[in-house]
Amino acid sequence: MDKEKKLLVSAIKDGTVIDHIPAYSLFRVIKILELHKISNQITFGGNLTSSRLGKKAVIKISDKFFEQDELNKIGLITNEANLNVIRDYKVVQKMKVEVPDKAIGLVKCINPKCITNHEKITTKFTVIDKELITLKCDYCEKNTNHSYIKIIR
Ligand code: ZN
Repeated sequence: MDKEKKLLVSAIKDGTVIDHIPAYSLFRVIKILELHKISNQITFGGNLTSSRLGKKAVIKISDKFFEQDELNKIGLITNEANLNVIRDYKVVQKMKVEVPDKAIGLVKCINPKCITNHEKITTKFTVIDKELITLKCDYCEKNTNHSYIKIIR
């Protein structure tokens, strides 16, 4: 384990560390997991150097453990992220984000003419490409690429 990783992971006693988030996606990951609405202690670092991603971000959430489907919401933004479950300063479990098949009520349609942008309708997307993370709107059938995804809440 290199120095940087050890430092990042060992900083919380119990909780979850989300690592290898592309730096530009940090705030969207916070938003899609609704971390801005919980009272747990959260620390994050942006623009850290990563050999794999260039610039990455890390989020550490104390005393919070995610269910797999909660986690998979991150997959709408990035399929690169790694999750480490920490108990008593040790990594006890590593989890992988899986890109979900559907995104319901999570993201906005990029098509300004889409009915979901004009009426109170829950947005629904089908993920048509899990590698590139491409979402197709179930209403207007327009594709939204992950880099353009806007989170609803
Ligand atoms: Zn649409």
